[in-house]
Amino acid sequence: MIITKQKKFEDILNNLKEVSRVFIVGCGECATTCKSGGEAEVLELKKQLEQQGKNVTGFAIPKAPCVAAQMKTVFAQNRSALKNSQAIVVLACGLGTQSVKANDRLELFVVPGCDTLFGAVVDAEGNFKEVCSACGECILDLTGGICPITCCPKGLLNGPCGGVNKGKCEVDKERDCAWVLIYKELEKKGKLSNIRSPHPAKDYSKTVKPHKLILEKKNA
Ligand code: SF4
Ligand code: SF4
Repeated sequence: MIITKQKKFEDILNNLKEVSRVFIVGCGECATTCKSGGEAEVLELKKQLEQQGKNVTGFAIPKAPCVAAQMKTVFAQNRSALKNSQAIVVLACGLGTQSVKANDRLELFVVPGCDTLFGAVVDAEGNFKEVCSACGECILDLTGGICPITCCPKGLLNGPCGGVNKGKCEVDKERDCAWVLIYKELEKKGKLSNIRSPHPAKDYSKTVKPHKLILEKKNA
């Protein structure tokens, strides 16, 4: 899940200074869960914009605006409202916002309504936790399922730094050192041999951006 936070209304409004007619796109998946771009947030933004004298021409909340096919459907179903708009405010992550722009043949002004923070799991209490940094070379098999690249603020690959103190991280004393957690986990599973020899430096060529994955088409 991509975690987003809605921008301050003043910042969104500031981007719409030259614009009077606005369409809003939300997100039915991640931004709905984060309460940054679901129906309630879209309707609230609509109300606020109207109070500022803007004409909100319409809104749509596709399940995943980051998927081109869904945005094409939104554009087809809302063609007249969009033709009557000067801008689209997107309450979704940067992926959704760029997908709106990429699929907009009307070439409207696309305004991000959210800041994109990180990718996360949602725990049983509904909290969002960052546990993966999409490094392109997963080593969870070696580290007992705990990611040192994400959970250690320094992203260390070969054990803790000298700042670890009574099991706590020197960067944030409230939190356990990732490498202490990894050690305990591997000890519990009888897998300490996983970290006896040094892990080679990461292949950073796998993290060069922008990433692209083209799926092979299967023959019918
Ligand atoms: S090692 Fe960590 S950052 Fe890399 S893919 Fe695995 S979980 Fe993600
Ligand atoms: S104390 Fe542990 S988690 Fe914190 S920066 Fe050092 S190695 Fe990483």
